[in-house]
Amino acid sequence: MIQGKMFINGEWVSALSGAERKIINPFDSSVIAVVAEGGRKDSALAITAARQAFDSGEWSKTPASERGRMIFKLADLIERDREELARLESLDTGKTVEESRWDMDDIAGIFRYYAGLADKDGGEVIASPVQNSTSIVVREPVGVCGQISPWNYPLLQAAWKMAPALAAGNTIVMKPSEITPLTAIKVTELAEEVGFPKGVVNLVLGAGAEVGAELAESVDVDLISFTGGIATGKTIMRAAAGNVKKVALELGGKNPNIIFDDADFNVAVDYALNAVFFHAGQICSAGARLMVQDGIHDRFVEELRKRIEAIVVGNGFDKGTQMGPLISAEHLSKVEKYVEMAPSEGAKLLTGGKRPSDPALKDGFFFEPTLLTECTNEMKIVQEEVFGPVITVERFHTEEEVVRWANDTVYGLSAGFWTRDPDRIERVSKALRFGTVWINDFNVYFVQAPWGGYKQSGMGRELGHIGLEEYTEVKHIFRNH
Ligand code: NAD
Repeated sequence: MIQGKMFINGEWVSALSGAERKIINPFDSSVIAVVAEGGRKDSALAITAARQAFDSGEWSKTPASERGRMIFKLADLIERDREELARLESLDTGKTVEESRWDMDDIAGIFRYYAGLADKDGGEVIASPVQNSTSIVVREPVGVCGQISPWNYPLLQAAWKMAPALAAGNTIVMKPSEITPLTAIKVTELAEEVGFPKGVVNLVLGAGAEVGAELAESVDVDLISFTGGIATGKTIMRAAAGNVKKVALELGGKNPNIIFDDADFNVAVDYALNAVFFHAGQICSAGARLMVQDGIHDRFVEELRKRIEAIVVGNGFDKGTQMGPLISAEHLSKVEKYVEMAPSEGAKLLTGGKRPSDPALKDGFFFEPTLLTECTNEMKIVQEEVFGPVITVERFHTEEEVVRWANDTVYGLSAGFWTRDPDRIERVSKALRFGTVWINDFNVYFVQAPWGGYKQSGMGRELGHIGLEEYTEVKHIFRNH
């Protein structure tokens, strides 16, 4: 049985209250670990440690090239322990171990990217209008960063925050989702092995409303970076107003995937499937709102149905499994309720829509890949983030109509469309109001490109060089000779 503790000021510690939490395997409901369940006081201790470490200047004033060297070392250790990390991630989330291996490779790449960027920004000399003066602009670390991440990509989302924050010279308090803390614990062990100065990397474990809320409210935290649901994001923004801390939010999505008549049919069907059933649809950028043009609609839906029914659902550790369980019993019941309600709104259930009958899966949080057709844009099942293996299909006639539908949402994270018409590519990519737009592809992201949402899908950007800038303050230094 894995035992997990918090890492505060360079020490592994239990919760002050002695409380613990059982971590559950979504495949069969078994207990896989027991970890410390921190509260506000534990979080406050971690914040104080990060504050003192930042104020000492030991890390922020370390030459950027040396900070980069240590982050490169962390990437090497992640690569060394890739298999262990991937297995922990799959045990904790239920996703296939193959997917977790890809995540670990991405994560090592993310640390390397920011390690390399750490010493690349030498500031800027600007043309001062004052005679005999010098004007320069430099970037400095923000300070203490609280980093709250979700359960769907536990270590990947944590790495998006951890790598740029450390590269820029900040100190951090990480708070993984309370239901998936295992890889964050392991990566903190690796950070300890690298030897970051005491208090630079801290890890707190526990409920969002306790340890997370303390991070959001504390006057000693200078920046809060949060990935999770919109409702929690709003709570965090309100809490952060107390000391006007900087807020970076990566929130939910309900992402349109638009298939025009002239799309490459087979490739588009394949990607329409992957866009939703990868990690059982528990992806902020899942292409859950499928919109298919009249001319190919019926053929497309029929092909989709056939391929959906062939998806192998099972244990993420078994070779051949294509889709694992949902994260928890609570989340399973939320997805189930959405699908049960959809026919009352006028949607037609074409396949799936229930828990699988296979007795081998009875103790896990499984839900069949589900296809709902005859959907319209105002339906709840189309507008709200279901975060499960569920596709809704809307039939459209014109480009103008589908762009209007696609944009008719409070979300603005990502969108994709499929066409071979270059003029349409130009028009539609400009008209879609989303942080990422894919053309003839879906769910592609890489560390070099910024990621984030329009509208209520968030504020700020992660990844790319902009992801590093988010962790810096800008200072103008003016000298009159
Ligand atoms: P969630 O909002 O329930 O929880 C996310 C994190 O916030 C957890 O660590 C939780 O403990 C913490 N938290 C909860 N209440 C808090 C509070 N009051 N104060 C501070 N912290 C609190 O989200 P979830 O269910 O873990 O994750 C799913 C959501 O994350 C989905 O909406 C998904 O779209 C979103 N997400 C977005 C992105 C993106 O890049 N935009 C990526 C992954 C997931």
